[in-house]
Amino acid sequence: MWESLATVRKYLWRYRWGMAAGTGCLVLKDLAQAVQPLMIGRAVDALAGAHNSLFVRFAAWLVGLALIKGLFQYGMRVIIIGISRDIEYDLRNDLFAHLVTLAPEYYGRTRTGDVMARATNDLNAVRMMLGPGVMYCAETSLTFALAVAVMVSVDWRLAFYALLPAPLVSLAVILFGRQIHTRFEAIQAMFSDISSRVQENLSGVRMIRAFVQEKAELRRFEELNQEFIAHNLKLVRIQGVFQPLLEVLIGFTFLVVLWVGGHDVVQGRISIGSFIMFNTYMGMLVWPMIALGWVVNLMQRGSASLDRINQILRETPTIAPPPAPVSLREARGEIEFRGVVMEYGSGRALDGVDLRIPAGATIAVVGHTGSGKSTLVSLAPRLFDPTAGAVLLDGIDLRRADPAEVRRLIGFVPQETFLFSATLAENIAFGVEHATEEQVRRAAEIAGLAGDIEGFPQGYQTMVGERGITLSGGQKQRAAIARAILRDPRILILDDALSSVDTLTEERILTHLAGVMRGRTVILISHRVSTVRQADRIVVLEKGRIVEQGTHAELVEAGGYYADLCQKQMLEEELEAI
Ligand code: ADP
Ligand code: MG
Repeated sequence: MWESLATVRKYLWRYRWGMAAGTGCLVLKDLAQAVQPLMIGRAVDALAGAHNSLFVRFAAWLVGLALIKGLFQYGMRVIIIGISRDIEYDLRNDLFAHLVTLAPEYYGRTRTGDVMARATNDLNAVRMMLGPGVMYCAETSLTFALAVAVMVSVDWRLAFYALLPAPLVSLAVILFGRQIHTRFEAIQAMFSDISSRVQENLSGVRMIRAFVQEKAELRRFEELNQEFIAHNLKLVRIQGVFQPLLEVLIGFTFLVVLWVGGHDVVQGRISIGSFIMFNTYMGMLVWPMIALGWVVNLMQRGSASLDRINQILRETPTIAPPPAPVSLREARGEIEFRGVVMEYGSGRALDGVDLRIPAGATIAVVGHTGSGKSTLVSLAPRLFDPTAGAVLLDGIDLRRADPAEVRRLIGFVPQETFLFSATLAENIAFGVEHATEEQVRRAAEIAGLAGDIEGFPQGYQTMVGERGITLSGGQKQRAAIARAILRDPRILILDDALSSVDTLTEERILTHLAGVMRGRTVILISHRVSTVRQADRIVVLEKGRIVEQGTHAELVEAGGYYADLCQKQMLEEELEAI
C-alpha cells in the first residue's frame, strides 16, 4: 500500500500548508473534545456535593468547549476535504496529460471503457481516501490516544479493562482490511468491464441494430451486471460482518467497565463523577472504533484504486523526445526508409523496406489490403517506431528528433478519419491556431468540400459528430484532407484518402490538389490507377516488401501487379461507358 502512495505524496506536499492548517484544526478540535468528559465529571461531582456555583462554572466550560470543538471541526472538514478535491483535480489533469502522451500502441491494447473507469471511479475512490480517509484516520487516532491517556491517568485499572478488546480489534482490522482490498479490486475491474461494454455498445450501436443483436447484447450486459452485483455482494457481506463484530467488542467492553467501575463506586474507591467521566471517554472511543472500520474500508478502496491509476501512470510513452533533439526547422522534406522492418504482435507487416523519397517528389504506394501500406506511412509521423531499420527525415533518424516537431511538418490524412464533436470550421482548423475563415474556406475548396458545406444550414458553423449532423464517408474524408492542407505541411500523406469519393469528385480534387502538391513531398496511397498515375514514382507493396517500382509507363511495361491493376480498371471504365 505504501509504495502506491508515492504517486500522491507529491500532491500532498504541494498542499502541505493547507494540510498543516487542517491538521492544526484537527488537533485543537480533538483537544477540546478530550477535555469535555473531564468537565462533565467535575460538574457531576459538584452537583453531588451541592456546590452549585461550581456546577455552573463547569457547565459554562462545557458550552464553551462545545463551541470551540464545533468551530475547529468545521475548519478541519472544509480545509482537508477541500484539499482532497484539489488533489483529485490535479491528479485528473496529470492523468489526462499522461494519457495524451501515450502512443497508439497503448490504445491498441487497452479498452477505452477501462481507461474511463480508472479516470472517474477510481479517481473518486482515491479522493475519498485522501480526504475523509486521511482525516478520520488522523482524527480517530488522536481521539483514541487522548482518551486512553486520560483514562489511564484517572484509573489505570479500569483503563486496562476498557482496552482489553483493543488487540482483537486490530486483528480484525488487519484481516478484514486485506479481504476488503482484494474484493474491492475485483469490483473495480468488473466496473471497467462494464464501462468498456457500454462504450463499445454505444459506439457500435449501428452494427448492433443492423445485425439485430439488441436482445443478445442486452442479455450479455445483464450477465455482466449480475456478476457485478455478485462481486458487490461479496464485499457487502464482509463489511456486514466487520461492523457488527466491532460493535460487539465495544459493547462487551462497556459491560466489563460498568461491572468493575460500578463496584468501585459502590465501595467508594472512585467518585460518581469520575465514573461518569470514564464512561463518557468510553463513549468517545466508540466512534473511533466504528469509524476505524469505515476508514479501513476507505483506505483499502483508495489504495486499490490508486494501484489501478498507477498502472496507467507507469506506462511510459514509447515515443518520447530524446534528451537533445535535433532541430528540424530547416527540413526540406526528404524521407527515407532504410531497411525498415515492422512487427506487430500479430506478425510482420513490413519486411525490409528501402525507399528514398526526394524532397518535393510525389510517391504513390499501391498494393493489396494488408500489404503494409498504412503501416509504412504511419512510420513517417512516428506514430510507431520500426522494429528494425530506420526512418530518416532529411537524413536525420526520426528517433533523434522531437516527435512533435516531426508531426508539425506533416499533413496526415489517415485511412480512418475522425471528426470531433465540434463545428466543421473547428474540425478543419484542428491543430492550427488562429486560422482565419478565409484559410478554412480555401482548404475546404481544395479538398472539394466547400460546395457541400455551403449546402448545410449553418455552413461552416454546422456541428458534426455526436452533437450535430452525420457526414457521409466521402465528406469526412474530404474534411480530413482540408484539415491536412490547412496546416501547410512540408510533407503530405494521403492514406487512401479518396476511397469513399466517386471518380468524378476524385478527379476534381486531384486537379485542385496538384497545385498544393507542387513543392511538397507527397505520399499517396490508393487503389485507383487514376489517382496514382501522375506520381513521380509508383511503389508496389506485397506482404511488406517492395516488389515493383517505377513510373506509370515503366510499370505498365513491366507487366506485373500494377499492369494487371491498370488493365482491370481500364476494362471497368469501358464497361461503365457502355
Ligand atoms: P494496408 O494499409 O496495406 O491495408 P496495413 O499496414 O494496415 O496494410 O496492415 C499490414 C498488416 O499489419 C496487416 O496484416 C494488419 O493486420 C497488420 N496490422 C496493421 N496495424 C496493426 C496494429 N495496430 N496492430 C497489429 N497488427 C496490425
Ligand atoms: Mg491501409
